[in-house]
Amino acid sequence: MKLKNIAGILFMGVFAFSCKAQKKEILFPKGEKITNANFTGTAYLQILIAADSLNPTSVGNVTFEPGARTKWHLHPGGQILLATDGIGYYQEKGQPKKILYKGDVIKCPPNIQHWHGASVDNYFVQVAITNTQNGPPVWLEAVTDEEYTSSKK
Ligand code: MN
Repeated sequence: MKLKNIAGILFMGVFAFSCKAQKKEILFPKGEKITNANFTGTAYLQILIAADSLNPTSVGNVTFEPGARTKWHLHPGGQILLATDGIGYYQEKGQPKKILYKGDVIKCPPNIQHWHGASVDNYFVQVAITNTQNGPPVWLEAVTDEEYTSSKK
């Protein structure tokens, strides 16, 4: 076998391996672009589990582009966020903004005003687990640029 052929086979092997590795990095599908008015910037949603009468829990994969975030809102039944990729923010009203990295988890109590989203320079991916038994999310005002970029409140 010629050296050129061996190099070619090796190259194809590395290429195939890197494709497989890249595909594995995406945990859940990105889903569709969110077009409702409850978000600022560009975000995507893939519903993974729809709530029903037997289990009123909805699970969604949300991908925020840099700068994108939810409006202020609350969940009557509370919410759990699992950070799966990128760098994000989470803030409860009157509390410091938290920076979220892959592997971080947030337990948001029922009826606590908060927002979540990507950081300024990085995208963010979260799995949002929402208890809907006491009603759907209540959407409030937009997170201003000042609130979004604030490092303390
Ligand atoms: Mn929320």
